[in-house]
Amino acid sequence: MSSVVLAFDLGGTKTSCALVSGGKILEKSEEKTVKTDTAEDLVAQISKMGKPWVDRAKSISVATLGLVKGASWSAPTLGLKDGKNFPLAERIYSSLNKDVTLVNDAQAAAWGEYRFGAGQEKDMLFVTVSTGVGGGLVSGGRLIQGKTGLAGHIGHIQIDPHGLKCTCGRKGCLQTYVSGEGIAFSGQAYYEDATTKDVFAQAKKGEKWAKDILDTSTSLLTIAISNAKSMLDIEVAVVGGSVGLADGYIGMLREKMSEEGDMYSVEIVEAVLGKDAGLIGASDLSLKS
Ligand code: ADP
Ligand code: ZN
Repeated sequence: MSSVVLAFDLGGTKTSCALVSGGKILEKSEEKTVKTDTAEDLVAQISKMGKPWVDRAKSISVATLGLVKGASWSAPTLGLKDGKNFPLAERIYSSLNKDVTLVNDAQAAAWGEYRFGAGQEKDMLFVTVSTGVGGGLVSGGRLIQGKTGLAGHIGHIQIDPHGLKCTCGRKGCLQTYVSGEGIAFSGQAYYEDATTKDVFAQAKKGEKWAKDILDTSTSLLTIAISNAKSMLDIEVAVVGGSVGLADGYIGMLREKMSEEGDMYSVEIVEAVLGKDAGLIGASDLSLKS
């Protein structure tokens, strides 16, 4: 009982709830995240999902999209009227009555991979290449969250101030080129309604335009990972997400990384915890705090 944590993963599309112990999921449920303009409805959904299991848990941990600053939470992309500096931890505490730890979802996933997955307890950057590009940093045995919760958000490194509009409001962030959405958007210049999977399939068939799109995605991500080494001296990059783990993607990254000299080269490994990384990492962080 003592090491069991009730963990949530609050995403824009889905919300998961699980009982987690020692990096293992004991029970898990998943629902579509309610469509709403108020954070209170999200609290109600989390409370309802957690009620059946909360008595078995020592504490509560929430991996969430958006920015976490201590116990408060901001989710600029959800369009909530109360979504800025919302007291999410306190609101969940008042309905489920156990201590609540909040963590950004990619940062939680980074910690999960570090402790129980592919990170091998090395200084690492976690990168998830999915609809967007998320990230998290672990250095010297600590998850680096930052005062405003922004640390590790590699997808929002700006690479072209005149580039495509990003979901964060800025132009030309890395994810606008590298992510699934970026890859699909680039593919649509070649045929209507191209999806990310279509681009991968066409590249496999040898279509030059599709190979070029994946080449751009993996080249830019390799540069960003090497830059992370120059800033933080990371030893390993753990790459996950449906695009990151799609056929051939990691191979391309490794090939590009092999062209870097030793000083800036980073070992690239596949994430192994999949969609549970956030739940597992968040639960472990709640036991630490
Ligand atoms: P999320 O963004 O919700 O975390 P995923 O990690 O599954 O979810 O990423 C979704 C993105 O991955 C979408 O852009 C989708 O088109 C793309 N995708 C899903 N499966 C594949 C695949 N087999 N090959 C290439 N891209 C894929
Ligand atoms: Zn951005």
